[in-house]
Amino acid sequence: MDLSGFRDPTIARGLIDAISATDTGPVKIMEVCGTHTVSIAKNGLRAIMPERVTLLSGPGCPVCVTANRDIDTAVALSQRPDVIVTTFGDMMKVPGSYSSLSREKAEGRDVRIVYSPLDALTLAEKEPDREVIFIAVGFETTAPLIAAAILRAQEQGLTNFSVFCAHKTVPIALEALVNDPEVQIDAFILPGHVSTIIGSQPYEFLAEQYKVPGVITGFEPVDVLQGVYMILKQLEEGRSEIEIAYHRGVMPEGNPTARELVERVFEPVDADWRGIGVIPGTGMGIREAYAAFDAAKKLPVELPEPKEIKGCQCGEVLRGVILPFNCKLFARGCTPEHPIGPCMVSSEGSCAAYYRFTDYGKSDASDG
Ligand code: SF4
Ligand code: SF4
Repeated sequence: MDLSGFRDPTIARGLIDAISATDTGPVKIMEVCGTHTVSIAKNGLRAIMPERVTLLSGPGCPVCVTANRDIDTAVALSQRPDVIVTTFGDMMKVPGSYSSLSREKAEGRDVRIVYSPLDALTLAEKEPDREVIFIAVGFETTAPLIAAAILRAQEQGLTNFSVFCAHKTVPIALEALVNDPEVQIDAFILPGHVSTIIGSQPYEFLAEQYKVPGVITGFEPVDVLQGVYMILKQLEEGRSEIEIAYHRGVMPEGNPTARELVERVFEPVDADWRGIGVIPGTGMGIREAYAAFDAAKKLPVELPEPKEIKGCQCGEVLRGVILPFNCKLFARGCTPEHPIGPCMVSSEGSCAAYYRFTDYGKSDASDG
């Protein structure tokens, strides 16, 4: 697809003028997707907003919101001699309470990066004497792939493949943010990729019950600006609706085939979100029918109490209570090369995005 129109400076300029011409009071808009955070930082969109419009980054990176306890479980699983742990690259460096997967790998555990859960399945076929576990973190976007891998493993009669599922779902988590008295969000820029799967309907309660509007948009600068403009128009006109600006990717009903796949394999369970805590019904548990592929049931591990990282304010960053720059460790001790918290590890993490694409952090670092 030709995306040049979505990067066109003339169109962007027109939208910036339209945004400035809206008539609203102070507005806090949260983007809940890591890729939006990166696009906003990379294109300097925060700085060109009128003063009354604050863009806040939310819990949009699946790696960042993974609780220490889940990372500790992945680490404990990797310590078993009969196991190969596989995961996406971003998970490797994320520190848990006492270790990380990359540290375990350096100490000789068999931890491997894969690009898809299906790669983990192929590995399980090649290594029939060892259990191959896929550590799954992500939102609705990657869940269909995990479901497909589990169904394929069942079809093939594989007995040495399992998934440790720390997947989360987005819409209900936004309710927790709306109810958070520390943040007071007026509107959401809703995630494009997640919505490709689930559509716009699951967010409608936010507009109906809480009068918080949302716009689903894409990831190019013109997409984001259009999303902000549509939100401001709603607020100006006193409307609260869930609108789609990303028509090239999202239908109101989402992708029914992918949703059915997910529904078949997973059921809602409570999930522990870093910085937010346990939110009922926002996790994806593997249904009993597929328990043979559920690493949590197949290879339960004993864990010491999880411990938070001293000085790390990722939890507040993820709730939009502080901006990454406001963490005392930002660029002073915590950098993408030497991350202390997950928000600096993941390529979609807010701290990493701010560090890479804004000067503020780096000039700030020199006085620390
Ligand atoms: S998976 Fe998609 S929706 Fe989720 S953070 Fe990444 S880009 Fe955004
Ligand atoms: S700068 Fe580092 S320690 Fe601070 S919130 Fe970000 S990732 Fe966590």
